[in-house]
Amino acid sequence: MNPLFDCHRVWVADIFADGLHGPSLTAQPAAIAAVDATPLTPALRCAREPDEVIGWRALCSCGGWHGRTWLRAENPVDHDPGHRRLHCPSGRLDTSATTLVLAEWDYHRVEMQALIPVRLAYEDSVSAQQRLVEAVRFVRSAGASWAAIGQVSGLGSAEDAELRFGPQACDMC
Ligand SMILES: [Zn+2]
Repeated sequence: MNPLFDCHRVWVADIFADGLHGPSLTAQPAAIAAVDATPLTPALRCAREPDEVIGWRALCSCGGWHGRTWLRAENPVDHDPGHRRLHCPSGRLDTSATTLVLAEWDYHRVEMQALIPVRLAYEDSVSAQQRLVEAVRFVRSAGASWAAIGQVSGLGSAEDAELRFGPQACDMC
């Protein structure tokens, strides 16, 4: 898998009535993340009872995506995966239910994989900007004029070159 995709790892979270989240794969539920999936500090993490699980959702480790909420149905007759309702007496999802909750993540995965060329091009442009700034610093230290730098960099004038690369400019502007 492309290393650029390493930040996208999906997991299924238990949702508790107070909105906190925890990993659904553990035998003992535990709240480890806030409503927005931000990890709780160790002092705020706490074990929960299976009865406290009110639903589930898939979360991506990138922090930029989460699936829709699947509610826990108390009665077997209310089990309705098509409407994201799962009857789960134990509060712990089995493999097939976990697969259902995870399925939405595939869209996010495909989208993020399709965007990898954009990420690569962005990183190339950042790297090129850094090389340009370093090259200008080098030639300035060797005595090149702002007028000459303006001419070869495409900025045109000495003033524009100094504004872009001079001591007042920020490196990434
Ligand atoms: Zn992601």
